[in-house]
Amino acid sequence: MIDYRYRALPWNIVFGKNAIQRLPAELDTLGKSRALVLSTPNQADDGRRVAKLLADRCVGLFAQAVMHVPAATVEAAKKEAVRLDADCTVAIGGGSTTGLGKALALQLDLDNVVIPTSYAGSEMTNIWGITENGIKTTGRDDRVLPTLTLYDPVLTLSLPPKFAASSGLNAMAQAAVNVASDSLNPMVRVMAVAAVKLLAQSLPTVLTSPDDLDARAGALLGASLAGGALGTGSTGLHHRLCHVLGGAFNTPHAETHTVLLPHSIAYNTAVTRAGTSELAAALQVDDAALGIFNLASLLGAPTALSELGVQASDLDEAARLVTATPFGNPAPVTLDGVRGLLEAAYHGRPPRPQS
Ligand code: NAD
Repeated sequence: MIDYRYRALPWNIVFGKNAIQRLPAELDTLGKSRALVLSTPNQADDGRRVAKLLADRCVGLFAQAVMHVPAATVEAAKKEAVRLDADCTVAIGGGSTTGLGKALALQLDLDNVVIPTSYAGSEMTNIWGITENGIKTTGRDDRVLPTLTLYDPVLTLSLPPKFAASSGLNAMAQAAVNVASDSLNPMVRVMAVAAVKLLAQSLPTVLTSPDDLDARAGALLGASLAGGALGTGSTGLHHRLCHVLGGAFNTPHAETHTVLLPHSIAYNTAVTRAGTSELAAALQVDDAALGIFNLASLLGAPTALSELGVQASDLDEAARLVTATPFGNPAPVTLDGVRGLLEAAYHGRPPRPQS
């Protein structure tokens, strides 16, 4: 019987080819005139381009965003925002840059405009994260949700193919766990199924024809919808596994999702038969977990934890950390079950359903 709870998030989105050109007018509509532009050092040129486009609506560029939003970076960016009397941030980049804009929104109550250039999907969630002394604290707060998200698929043309593959599968993870679930939340599922279809169709073309703008747009829309599913849906074993491995063993974010997703889906298959069948149908395969594993192989993305710097001797500790505190998941989470999952993922073996 249908039984669900859904709380919408107030998304404000502009999506289109060359949409970045609309940024100055959009900022005027928001009543913002003193933007601090954020980027990683890698994408400082993108940051400078945004600053130039905004002309006198831009008060400065902070091009020091890094992975996992270190507290020291947040402090430095906050100082700059206060010094320059900024009235908003404009973050151009992947999830790391979006994360810095979210941290400033949280701590300074500063409006944040986000221009995503990867498939992280963070711009669609109210989840923030800040890392201090090796510990990443996360939370949900509507203040961090972007005031405006501006998607321009042209900006994703520069994504290196290898990163496009793992970033796209990171998005796939956010959607897939919300389809292969035991809860029937029809609102989240609509977004999640559409995301899986778009990503499965677009990503192979992104890799074989990197200049195909329709494929890039399809992947970006898929990532946006997947982020929407993550923002309004649920997480479980998959996200716990990724959080533990990233936090304790410093594995790269998108690649960790890529390797673990087929195994997380397989782990829950016995208790999520209807959802897993729907996921397989969206992927146009017979076996959802194997289908995702094969898609990762086709895209040349990593399929083994051993490729991400994890040692065989880390697996016991990882399983202990994953199961140390309880969390919601369709199938019961046991130490042996998680240890077995990690063993298969470590060696890059095809996923096997738990009985
Ligand atoms: P990232 O933002 O660290 O980007 C990786 C590198 O790719 C960076 O140097 C970046 O500048 C570069 N890059 C991004 N787009 C590019 C492009 N189009 N062309 C060239 N270079 C480009 O990595 P990510 O995977 O996008 O984001 C990962 C981070 O996002 C993690 O810290 C993760 O925790 C966070 N995240 C948060 C949420 C959330 O809801 N809060 C959701 C997903 C991810």
